[in-house]
Amino acid sequence: MSSVFEVAPQEELLYSIAADGKRRFMHPVVRKGRYWGIRRTIAYALVVLFFALPLIPVGGAPAMLFDLATWRVHLFGATFHPTDNLLLVAFGFGVIVTVFFVGSTFGRVWCGFACPQTIYLEFLFRPIEAWVEGGPTNQRHLNKQPLSARKAAIKATKWALWIVLAVSMAATFVAYLTGWSALVHGLTTNPQAWTGALFTITALTGLIVFDFGWFRDQMCTIACPYGRLQSVIADKDTILVAYDTARGEPRMQPKHQLAGVAAGDCIDCGACVSVCPTGVDIRRGLQVECIGTAQCVDACDEVMRKLGRPTGLIKFTSERQQQGGARRIWRPRNLAYLGLMAVAWGTLGALVFTRADALVEVVRGGREPYRMLTTGEVANQQRIRFTNQLDEAQRFEVTIANPAGAALVLSESPIVVGPEAVVMVNAVTTVPRALFRDGQATVRYLITSDHGFRQELDFLLLGPFGTAGTTP
Ligand code: SF4
Ligand code: SF4
Repeated sequence: MSSVFEVAPQEELLYSIAADGKRRFMHPVVRKGRYWGIRRTIAYALVVLFFALPLIPVGGAPAMLFDLATWRVHLFGATFHPTDNLLLVAFGFGVIVTVFFVGSTFGRVWCGFACPQTIYLEFLFRPIEAWVEGGPTNQRHLNKQPLSARKAAIKATKWALWIVLAVSMAATFVAYLTGWSALVHGLTTNPQAWTGALFTITALTGLIVFDFGWFRDQMCTIACPYGRLQSVIADKDTILVAYDTARGEPRMQPKHQLAGVAAGDCIDCGACVSVCPTGVDIRRGLQVECIGTAQCVDACDEVMRKLGRPTGLIKFTSERQQQGGARRIWRPRNLAYLGLMAVAWGTLGALVFTRADALVEVVRGGREPYRMLTTGEVANQQRIRFTNQLDEAQRFEVTIANPAGAALVLSESPIVVGPEAVVMVNAVTTVPRALFRDGQATVRYLITSDHGFRQELDFLLLGPFGTAGTTP
């Protein structure tokens, strides 16, 4: 094989690239050890959640629905509106600091144990491949064979099953944005009006099949920014998977071991490399391509048990521990992230639990800032927007709390707003001219509803400068 990387030896290349520049496809062996069991439980629980959340009704809506038609988010019975922007900011900040906390404390545990890329690839797409083509050895053997009717039939079956799975994932994703009932009803009764959804399902299906069928580990080693971020947020105490060099070296296969010649515990069996979904040889030290699946830990533990030696030649540890120090779980960096997490999630919780039954906003209306009436009063036009955050209709009333002498006329009163609906009404507030100071006067509205909602809201009215009788 000719090498196109004359300046870079094979061990310095990405594991997914061969020395001739071609793609090296990974066919990892599965070792059903302790960590694999934990990963499988988490994986299938998350897969079930993904498919179930848009299907399970809670409070009249799916448990999770990001409704594009109405720009509302339904989460486990609660409904959020675009006006809940503070909630969104707290949520976004919470997610960011949580990523930093998890990454700095537990390393790539997210990648290995909970990331959709790992879960769907290792626990759905690869098992389908193994079911149709056989294990890694059979897969390699089949790939090397010239095209034949048998090979074409096997490959077609595998890709057909993958496409079915990808369509169901893509349709579920779209159902998170439309709801299953609306999606099915729209596609079956008026597909022309649902071409956007159809296009999205088709495009997503293509992307999913491309990713899990072909791109695979390259998503983690080349495309995903989280791996790069991880190198920034990790420190010497971050948990990682590492090989115990002091114990393992010099590695030596049993057939080469001689009495009196020092040999480490590593028997150079290659089991840890053969199981790695990104092709990493963890014995070469810490590497950015390691996504923390712990498959090599399971594989090596199995080998050690067979040899009657202690397990843990490859294990979860930290760089400091590797160098003989004691690992510190809590240090200033992750304590700071934890503090920020508490602030973010605490704020979100407080906002959710103190969320009012309605949002009322008053904005200026009309083309002119104010109008002088023949009665000597000053009139301001407004628009009042009512957002009902309950799943029942509310009747709102607006009155003026102060100043005395001010009057309010609404385009409709009481204002009936349907469940989770928004209604805008026109208003005119009239105030005696004598109340204006420097062209301004403040009015306080009292808004109440038949569901106990009550809010006082100040609004700055515009009017003439000077006192009555002078030129405005
Ligand atoms: S599985 Fe363990 S013994 Fe085998 S090569 Fe890897 S580190 Fe060495
Ligand atoms: S080196 Fe080990 S922990 Fe890292 S990705 Fe490979 S198998 Fe998983």
